[in-house]
Amino acid sequence: MNTVPLSSQVGGHAGVMTTEDGSLLIKPSLPVEVSFYQSVGTDPGFAPLRPFIPRFYGTLKLEGQVDNSEVVEGGEIKLTSINNGMNKDDIVLENISCRFHKPNILDIKLGTILYDDEASPEKRARMEKTARETTSLETGIRLTGFQVYHLESGVPINTPKTYGKSITPADLPEGISRFFPVASPSPTPTKEDETPITGTGLPAKILLPILQSLRQDIADIRDALSQIHMRMVGGSLLVVYEADWERAEEGLKHLEEELEELEAELEAEEDEDEDEDDEEEGKPKKVGMPYSVKLIDFAHTKIVPGEGPDEGVLKGVDTVLTLLDARIAQYFCVQ
Ligand code: ADP
Ligand code: MN
Repeated sequence: MNTVPLSSQVGGHAGVMTTEDGSLLIKPSLPVEVSFYQSVGTDPGFAPLRPFIPRFYGTLKLEGQVDNSEVVEGGEIKLTSINNGMNKDDIVLENISCRFHKPNILDIKLGTILYDDEASPEKRARMEKTARETTSLETGIRLTGFQVYHLESGVPINTPKTYGKSITPADLPEGISRFFPVASPSPTPTKEDETPITGTGLPAKILLPILQSLRQDIADIRDALSQIHMRMVGGSLLVVYEADWERAEEGLKHLEEELEELEAELEAEEDEDEDEDDEEEGKPKKVGMPYSVKLIDFAHTKIVPGEGPDEGVLKGVDTVLTLLDARIAQYFCVQ
């Protein structure tokens, strides 16, 4: 199995790799992250979170190329590791952006506290300063980095972490607009002074339903996070959506289907003659959707039973919801 660097990496440390077909992501991981993914898979307390984290396929011990690793299918894919004596395991995850033709990708770092218990006093002081001097402390988020496809040239344009680190909370709506540009000419501009962005973005009629559905998923993520007692330090929301107009429009059909399904379910509930349905996690319900949102990066996430949810992370998720609402309201004035 050959691996190549992940070209669509928008944040974090260098060294994230992907398989040549792009389906799997391989990233150096500390035991904390491995055990987090294992707990999520086995501990029923984490069930609400499962739909919102990347699929975890196991760990690999890598040294250079792994030639004789094998992929066994049958329910779960299993990667049998070949031990070459390295002590740091690589983690194998589903690559969230793989199924998109032109993935626009945003990494939003969540939380107000950016150090964990293991941090030295120096590191702690440094991370407190970073939180204070960026949007993190006040809003619970920082735009870590993003890529947005330029449609004429067909290449993704990267906004590096220096941007997200330099802005103030008042600039966040502008940051969100940069990640969700509306292609020009906008069919329903509501603000005359809005400068049309050429070369990037989706037409409003495609972007709006994506934003609305994405908002709903993030509200569900908030709900899941509020039920789980953990401290997620340095974790992110990874948002991906399709910048290829045709593909995105095609993907919207899945959204419509899902809405119809929901309506049918509601009707069935009213009749109260439905058996318990088995729409559990595992069912690839959202295949083909023109966007995806997942929580990633659990390198410093701790489970803290009895201590309540991570308020700083919840604050961050609330900020994202508010920003999305504002972005939606700019184009869609239903009150
Ligand atoms: P780090 O500890 O280096 O911050 P992350 O887990 O945050 O590691 O990953 C770094 C970057 O790699 C992310 O910003 C994102 O661009 C990419 N990435 C991580 N996990 C995934 C995934 N499951 N699918 C797609 N891209 C991912
Ligand atoms: Mn990260």
